[in-house]
Amino acid sequence: MTEKLIFEKSRTGRKGYSLPSLDIPVKENILPANLLTEKEPEIVELSERDVVQHFVRLARKNFCVDANFYPLGSCTMKYSPKINEKIAANEKFANLHPYQPEKLSQGILKVLYEMERSLSEICAMARFSLQPTAGAHGELTGNLIIKAYHQQQGNPRKIILVPDSSHGTNPSSANSVGYNIVTVKSNSFGEIDLEDLTSKTNEEVAALMLTLPNTLGLFERKILEIAEILHRYGALLYMDGANMNALLGIVKPGEMGVDILHLNLHKTFSTPHGGGGPGSGPIGVTEKLVPFLPVPLIGKQQGKYFLNYDLPNSIGKVAGFYGNVGVILKAYAYIKALGGEGLKKVAENAVLNANYLRVLLKNHYLLPYDRICMHEFVLAAVKQKEKLGGARAAELIGKRLLDFGFHAPTIYFPLIVHEALMIEPTETESKEVLDEFAQALIKIDKEIEENPDLVKDAPHTTEVLRLDQAGADRNPILRYRNQGD
Ligand SMILES: *Cc1c(COP(=O)(O)O)cnc(C)c1O
Repeated sequence: MTEKLIFEKSRTGRKGYSLPSLDIPVKENILPANLLTEKEPEIVELSERDVVQHFVRLARKNFCVDANFYPLGSCTMKYSPKINEKIAANEKFANLHPYQPEKLSQGILKVLYEMERSLSEICAMARFSLQPTAGAHGELTGNLIIKAYHQQQGNPRKIILVPDSSHGTNPSSANSVGYNIVTVKSNSFGEIDLEDLTSKTNEEVAALMLTLPNTLGLFERKILEIAEILHRYGALLYMDGANMNALLGIVKPGEMGVDILHLNLHKTFSTPHGGGGPGSGPIGVTEKLVPFLPVPLIGKQQGKYFLNYDLPNSIGKVAGFYGNVGVILKAYAYIKALGGEGLKKVAENAVLNANYLRVLLKNHYLLPYDRICMHEFVLAAVKQKEKLGGARAAELIGKRLLDFGFHAPTIYFPLIVHEALMIEPTETESKEVLDEFAQALIKIDKEIEENPDLVKDAPHTTEVLRLDQAGADRNPILRYRNQGD
């Protein structure tokens, strides 16, 4: 059943309201002619019933975390507690204006101040800027800070090191502030090869950007040595902490030699993302990098909160106003609701769930790095590829999973694993859901042997079946245009 666009459903004269007729005299021409448009606005004309039906139908076509399991690796599609939404929607927050004077904004300034203190404590960092509005935006901000720091030390340096298991945004963020990227190899344990790191570290290296846990879902057990190698040459250790949900309350980046990191509030701290809402990628730093943080920082003096623009070495602003404050509020509510012990449980259960699935699946799919994982793990559908005559097995398995009511895992990433299926269950799924998911993947493996066409033609039950992926990429149609528009 296809749903027409709301514009196509519009019928001239149909109304979604009923108002009493106007009983005051209407003055003609009260607006100057030059302020009037010549064309009537294209506003959809429908009844309330039409509109409700349209949007409810659309909503039911949508795949979402509230309805189904969403094991998208690295993306942490955990359940977003509804209390967070309620707090962020409270009119005392929602109706604030960003230009409201400090005197009248003490409540929200206090929230931002305390949020910064909480994140700093969780990560053992001196300070955080809450301004970046996504993970990659945090990385960009981080690279600007790294550059400003080295500039002040007398040499801006040229190189950012990234492991071959890093998240794709890492090299692109570093590149976009003008750094050259040098890749560091992984070893057979799926961790950074220390020899390769040592041979590539010198006084032209500004920083290593380290995704931790890395994209194989593995902890870098040599983190202290990694930090030491970099610091020996005055280089900085940047941690991509988007997946901090594996580490909350267990280890603190600042105590492992990390100089600067970003978090993804929309992953680790449960705020909705993807189609569900905007993100927030705060950047945390150790003491020596504080002077370079974006302005304003939230200050506190004699019990009053204020916006501190007095940072002469700041890299400046990186977002309009103070970042995505609504998102920060939701994450703040999450942290306050859970507390230190609760956050630690989040990490423990995220790791437990991932390992539970890993063990259920490892006899059916190749597990290239067979060791205890963190919040996610990566399978390689190479046996399945062979049985499918060399077809793109990970993609087909992902599509077939949709028929079982599960979102596909992240596929073909990280690049160092062939036919990668990167699975992140998160801590919010029950054992029953994890069991069903494992059963589905085991069943698909069987189908590949017994009835491969079922998998090759999947999905069979979704609203739309085989999409033209290349066409969607190359010729995206992102807005409705009226004829002649
Ligand atoms: C999601 C993610 C990012 C990017 O975050 P965005 O908010 O999507 O920009 C960066 N690094 C890692 C490890 C991630 O998982």
